[in-house]
Amino acid sequence: MKFNPFLLLIYHLLSIVSTLSTQSYSKRFGSRLSAFTPKLFNFHPNEHQTTSSSPLDSFKLLNTNSDDLPIENKQIPNIDNHSKDNTNAIIQLNEMPPSPMRFPPKLPFPQWLTDFTGLKEWPDLNPPYIPLDFINFNKIDDLPLHQQAQCSNPILRSPIACSFDCFNCVEFDDVYTCSKISQTFDDGPSPHTRKLLKALKKTNTKTTLFTLGVNIVRFPEVYQESMSQGHIMGSHTWSHKFLPSLTNQEIIAQIEWSIWAMNATGYHLPKWFRPPYGGIDNRIRSILRQFGMQSVLWDFDTFDWKMLDYSNNRNEQDIFKDVLNFKKTNQNKGLILEHDAILRTVDVGIEILDHILMGQEQLTVPKCVGGIDYIKTFERPKHYLATA
Ligand SMILES: [Zn+2]
Repeated sequence: MKFNPFLLLIYHLLSIVSTLSTQSYSKRFGSRLSAFTPKLFNFHPNEHQTTSSSPLDSFKLLNTNSDDLPIENKQIPNIDNHSKDNTNAIIQLNEMPPSPMRFPPKLPFPQWLTDFTGLKEWPDLNPPYIPLDFINFNKIDDLPLHQQAQCSNPILRSPIACSFDCFNCVEFDDVYTCSKISQTFDDGPSPHTRKLLKALKKTNTKTTLFTLGVNIVRFPEVYQESMSQGHIMGSHTWSHKFLPSLTNQEIIAQIEWSIWAMNATGYHLPKWFRPPYGGIDNRIRSILRQFGMQSVLWDFDTFDWKMLDYSNNRNEQDIFKDVLNFKKTNQNKGLILEHDAILRTVDVGIEILDHILMGQEQLTVPKCVGGIDYIKTFERPKHYLATA
């Protein structure tokens, strides 16, 4: 059968236009975003561990050519004092996904997003705030901003703020555990995600992947492959900022751009949100809820990113030992935090999947709490199936 490439192109364009541009923006976002049933959890502030970093930070630290990073992230490692670290850094650098600004977005910027934002390309690490008609600023909790690990303000200790990053405080609609011990992966999609997908397929395990907008637009095919294999795609912001240090508008920008990247790639609106560094308090929750989303935390942190810095003295064996111990003491229940942006943490994830949890049944986050997978899914254009 012969195809006329020009007609095919017209057909693709028409199918994109018919599925994307015909609906108004607020329809695309969903008009009943707040109509979700929160899952109630007991408040056990001391049973959780927060993380203070992520593999992305190791990348920032190791990336000596940091011209493409925002100013606040420009940190040059003191290589002279740590010759061993230096060797390690070079090995790891080969495994890192290229930095967002050095690796241009692959995903075309959709027309519906141009129509709405007036922009023509995906933003850098500091996305612009675009006003949204369904966000009511009067409904945003008025709480002080704080930097990571700066928790001295007494209000952060109180239930008024309910800070997870400072005091492991969880709210009624936070998800932080699961009836079956289950892995979750942050910071992708990355080229290394594919190795994880293969391993998950072998054991018929469905997982939850909390993705970064900047990575989605650079590796859209990995995102599509992940979702086509039945994994749940959650949001992990646009560019991995510590949200409690941002203004309300900056937080909204981090969330909206991440949703747009997911929508443009996966034709859906995410329900589940993992705050980078576990950075969440009631100010951020009150924004997140207006998007109809819920935060997903964890009750076991593998601290897999610590392997990447030699000075932490943490390796694969330490992680396996800790997970095994958690599995026993927590009676095979819980939500495990891992990362799929870097090969070494992906390998750890596969080892945990195959040899610690031994391929036993795991649940996705929505299955853990009996919730929905996405706020809304849109019909995919025909060409999508060909490329997925
Ligand atoms: Zn992260």
